[in-house]
Amino acid sequence: MSQTEQEQTPKLQLQQPMQQMTISASTQELAELLDIHLGALRPKEPAWRVADSPISGRGIFASRDIEAGEELFREHTLLVGPTAHRSTNLRTCTLCYRLIPGTTDPEALCPAGCGLPVCLACRDSPRHELECKLFRKWRPLEQNRIEPRALRILSVVRCFFLDEPQRKLLYAMQANADRYYMKEVERAAACFEHFPREQDMLDFFYRTVCAFNTNAFESRSNVDGHEVLVRALYPLAGLLNHQCTPNAAHHFKDGETIVVCATERISKGAEITMSYAKLLWSTLARKMFLGMTKHFMCQCVRCQDPTENGTYLSALFCREQGCRGLVIPVQTRTLQPDWRCLTCENVFPHAKMARYQDFALNTINNRINSCSVQDMIHFINELCPRFCPPSNYVLIEAKLNVIWRMTRFDRDQYTPEEMAHMDRYREEVLAILHKLGAGECTLKKLITEEIP
Ligand SMILES: [Zn+2]
Ligand SMILES: [Zn+2]
Ligand SMILES: [Zn+2]
Ligand SMILES: [Zn+2]
Repeated sequence: MSQTEQEQTPKLQLQQPMQQMTISASTQELAELLDIHLGALRPKEPAWRVADSPISGRGIFASRDIEAGEELFREHTLLVGPTAHRSTNLRTCTLCYRLIPGTTDPEALCPAGCGLPVCLACRDSPRHELECKLFRKWRPLEQNRIEPRALRILSVVRCFFLDEPQRKLLYAMQANADRYYMKEVERAAACFEHFPREQDMLDFFYRTVCAFNTNAFESRSNVDGHEVLVRALYPLAGLLNHQCTPNAAHHFKDGETIVVCATERISKGAEITMSYAKLLWSTLARKMFLGMTKHFMCQCVRCQDPTENGTYLSALFCREQGCRGLVIPVQTRTLQPDWRCLTCENVFPHAKMARYQDFALNTINNRINSCSVQDMIHFINELCPRFCPPSNYVLIEAKLNVIWRMTRFDRDQYTPEEMAHMDRYREEVLAILHKLGAGECTLKKLITEEIP
């Protein structure tokens, strides 16, 4: 499971607050539906309870004191399916996520003609039988190629096979309404001769797509050495509200199970939170990401500290002749702050610094995507210091990428010198996590290798 996977930092503008769909269940009913959903995974005496949150909507609260590192719950997904992103291998079984042997699409597709890739072992399973029947009834237009738009809708279509309490749970989840989300259903409809046109059916799909867009987790896991990316709904984990320095973190056990643990001591009554953004992103990067994807502006303590707990993750070099001071954004409540040099105290407009930050981001990301580990180390050590302060989050992400590649792949091919650089990067990242008060977070576990 990779939390350190490189993602492009968003550059878009903040959108209008979204309209929310009506939620049919009371908080008490939701808690009961969640208990049914957890089933055997429900802890005998949960350390938490669901209640209304001062941060937003509903949340999860500690019902007793919780120790750092304690597992709070694990949960099986309510709905899950392939993301079918272009970067993923589509010849992945839609049920067990194993890579299907062979080299061509027709070899991977179900021979019954449902248009879904499914492995030999899963072809006769009752789960595939249901999906197979439904997709065949709709008549997929493409018979020889795996169609990503049809594959992507599978996670949504699976709402058909939910039982009554599961359906109620789906409708009890928060869902932001945006007609744009209907596009996903329309794109899928274009792949079939007889996609359903009944309004109630389309409404059901739409609601599900909205729930996915509001709550889905993208989980990357490793199945038999093959990297799998799924999107999944976890109704309980989805209730955790966001803080930029949260007290809980999650990881995935396989494509279909999420595990949530406390990252620090949590007192009875406190709200349990997780971060929707990357821990090591700068405040501006987090704000833009949260605004774009989750439609809110975070006001947590970390978001209001221009030094970012002394990590200076946003810092860039001063543009004034002869000054190499650090420049940081000074206002914290806007997406277009003024920036000020800590040395010469000159003030720079946001537009200028944003261009500079984008330049650093693009330069470093291009290298990450194209360079060997050896070239990356050279680039980080020799070239980056000329244009990017060592505390800048983009450079930290580059170091994480090196750690990730060196610990996960071909370990023995590196020289002791290269290993020493990696150890130094690791110490730097751990020091930043410590300053942020990130506790026993998933990222710390990943780079100290507690998660295989
Ligand atoms: Zn399979
Ligand atoms: Zn089939
Ligand atoms: Zn925040
Ligand atoms: Zn300066």
